[in-house]
Formats: sequence, C-alpha cells, structure tokens
Amino acid sequence: MYVPPPICGEGYPLSAEQRELLATASRLGREKFAPRAAQYDRDASFPFENYDDMRAAGLLKICVPKRYGGVGADFVTYSMVAAEIGRHDGSTALTWNMHVCSTLWSGALADDLDMTAPERAEHERNRAVHFERIVKHGKLYAQPFSEGSAAAAGKAPFGTLAAKVDGGWMLNGKKIFASLSGAADYYGVLCTEDKPDRTMRDTLYMAVPGDAPGVSVVGDWDPLGMRGTVSRTLLLKDVFVSDDAQLMPRGAYYQAASRWPHMFSTLSPTYMGLAQASYDFTVQYLRGEVPGTPPVKRRMYPTKQIAVAEMRIKLEQTRALFLRAAGEAKVDPSKDERLRCYAAHYTIMENANDIARLAIRTCGGQSMLKNLPLERFYRDSRCGSLMLPWTAELCLDRIGREALYEQGEADD
Ligand SMILES: Cc1cc2nc3c(=O)[nH]c(=O)nc-3n(C[C@H](O)[C@H](O)[C@H](O)COP(=O)(O)OP(=O)(O)OC[C@H]3O[C@@H](n4cnc5c(N)ncnc54)[C@H](O)[C@@H]3O)c2cc1C
Repeated sequence: MYVPPPICGEGYPLSAEQRELLATASRLGREKFAPRAAQYDRDASFPFENYDDMRAAGLLKICVPKRYGGVGADFVTYSMVAAEIGRHDGSTALTWNMHVCSTLWSGALADDLDMTAPERAEHERNRAVHFERIVKHGKLYAQPFSEGSAAAAGKAPFGTLAAKVDGGWMLNGKKIFASLSGAADYYGVLCTEDKPDRTMRDTLYMAVPGDAPGVSVVGDWDPLGMRGTVSRTLLLKDVFVSDDAQLMPRGAYYQAASRWPHMFSTLSPTYMGLAQASYDFTVQYLRGEVPGTPPVKRRMYPTKQIAVAEMRIKLEQTRALFLRAAGEAKVDPSKDERLRCYAAHYTIMENANDIARLAIRTCGGQSMLKNLPLERFYRDSRCGSLMLPWTAELCLDRIGREALYEQGEADD
C-alpha cells in the first residue's frame, strides 16, 4: 500500500511542537475534513463542523502569541500545518488562512514593525481584546480586503472608508469575495481613513463584528472551486466600531506590506497541500488502491510512469521553494529573499493546478467523476493564481520589475 508522506517530506527537521501540530492537522484532515469535503463543495456551504474540530484542537489560536494564551506558532509552522489541512479540504485551509492572518499580522508580524511607545501601548491593549475573543471564546475572523478596484492589488487606497467619530470609527464600503461571509464573528476589514488627500499610507485594519448594525452579506456564491469558502459580498453602511477595533495602529499595515512581504504568501500553503493531494491520488489510483474503486492497476504502462515522474518533479520543485521561502519570512528580507518569496508563491499556485491537470490526464476519465476528490482538487487549485494581491500575473510583474531595478532607480 502507498502511504502518503508528510507534507514537508520525510526527514525534514521538525521541532516536537511542529510534529504535534502536523499530526493533529493530519488526523483531523484524514478522519474529518476529507470525508465531509464533497458535501461542502456540492452545496457551496461553509464547513462549520470542521471549525468546531479546529477550535477544539486549539488551531484557531495557532498564531496567537503564547503570552496571550495562544500556541505562538511562527510563520513556517503555520505554513506547514495549513498545507497539511489543504491536502484534505482546500476551502477549510483557505478560510483558516484568513482567520490566522488576523492573529499573525497583529501578533508576531506587528512586533517587528516600528511604532512609537504610545502606538505600541495602544496596540497591546487592542490586540489583547482581539486575542481574548479567539483564545477564550473561540471566535472566528475573516479578512475582506478585495473591492474590485486596484486597491487589493496594492496599487490604490482602499475605497472602504473609516471616518473618526467620538469613541470610534464609522465605516462605509463594500468588499467582494469575503470568504467566511456569514460565518465569521468578526471581519478584519482593510479600509482607508476618511480624510483629505488619502493615500495608501492611511490604511486602517479594523475588526468589525458580524452582527454590528449596518453589516450585511449579499449576492450569491456559485464558483468553479473553493466553494466551501462562501466568499460573498460584504456591505458596510454606517457601521460604528469602537476605538479598540483597530487590529493595527494607523500606518502599520502600510509599513507591514512594504517591509514584511511574506505576509501575502500565507495563501499559498493551501495550494501546496492540493498539489500533494493530486500527486498522492494519482499514485494510489494507478496502483489500484483508491478506496471505493475497483482494484485495477494501471501502473505498468510506461506513459503513466513518465507522467508520475513529471508530477513528482514538479511536486519536489514546489515543496523545496515552499519550505525555503517560508523559512525566510521576516521583516526587511533581502532583495534575493523577496524575489524568492514571489517565485515560490507563483510556483505553488501555478504548479498546484498543473499537477492536478496532469493527474486527471494520467488517471483518465473515471478519475474525474464526482464520487472521487480529484476533480475538486483540480477546480480548487485553479483559484490560487487568481487571488490578489499576488496573482500569477502580478508575481511576474513584481519579479521582472524588481529584478531589473534597484529601489528608486528609473530610466532617463
Ligand atoms: C476562492 C477565493 C477566495 C477569496 N477570498 C478572499 C477573501 O477572503 N478576502 C479578500 O479580500 N479577497 C478574497 N478573494 C478575492 C481575490 O483576492 C480577488 O480579489 C478576486 O479573485 C477578484 O479579482 P478581480 O477579478 O476583481 O481582479 P481584477 O482586479 O479585476 O484583476 C484581474 C486580473 O488582472 C490582474 N491585475 C489586477 N490589477 C493589476 C494591476 N494593477 N496591474 C497589472 N495586472 C493587474 C491580476 O492578475 C488579476 O488576476 C478570494 C478569491 C477567491 C478566488
């Protein structure tokens, strides 16, 4: 029998804590998430049961710092665990990413940013409120930043505005593709402070309660893949939030986006998991070992062997870049590390879908029937390189430009 290897490959050095977290994710994924995935996909419904399991296993607080009662996992640990979950259910891994970002960005990442002493003190007070909701009450956060404008690509200020009012902020705007819509307890909304001559430096990051007056979820959700993310449209109409809703102080998000580029690559581990899942499926299928299918072997054909070799090579290339780039996540990475981060993100997103494509071509017609998970891996994996701010196109754009120009350089 083929035994699927660990997501980081056999022999990869892991701490005891990493091993334990990965074992938890693997057990939940195999026993709970994978068997439920087809139904969430068919219904395009949110995987509430999976979140109950993750809450019970402590995974909602994985990146909450230890001193706030969390697990305190670092970037690379989170990435490996997310990839392991993505093997079993892409939508759960992707939505979990949105939730975890709200703790990673306001937690370890914010610790690396420059803040004045009063800003730091304010941030400590605000994030204590936010972390307590997760650690003590198991609350769930979403992360809507897309608006259908140039803002999500990082090219213009967010159109959603936050006006300062007595004791808090008044928010107005619209977010598209808000994963966890209707399921999240809080929406971590990226918006712009409402003042004259607004720029991207005026970006604010606010936790908006899902049940606040003026918050509504509209539109339907019937996409090609990642159907369990339930990414409908979020409307904010005169929504009041108190001052402690700020997940980062003024200016900190802009600073993070410029100085901590790996913050946007948290989307890709899900797709690393999907790449592994397509490969694992293919090996099992060609060996006649996929449960619920006749034990027909197809592995003896040289064309199949060559296709599996091609998939394995792509998988190893993807995993190597994934682990290397995740291990380099930090504030102010070198130019080389930054370019590798874009390259890793691009490679994971594109190869996940390419490996799924090869898997279907190699396994054949029966493998794409809906009683098997491969066609879902194919559809889910198609979504990765469409996700802003680092779509495949925008990764190419960044790599090409930043490789050829040093900071501040221009042509005459
Ligand atoms: C399954 C799924 C879940 C999602 N969940 C979330 C979520 O939770 N929160 C959230 O905020 N968003 C989420 N998104 C949204 C995602 O990040 C994009 O915003 C979304 O795919 C919509 O893109 P668009 O068609 O409006 O892109 P457009 O802005 O119309 O861009 C189209 C394409 O043009 C290219 N492009 C865009 N801007 C530029 C530019 N300035 N220069 C050159 N090329 C450019 C990009 O490659 C892009 O793919 C999700 C998307 C998917 C598919």
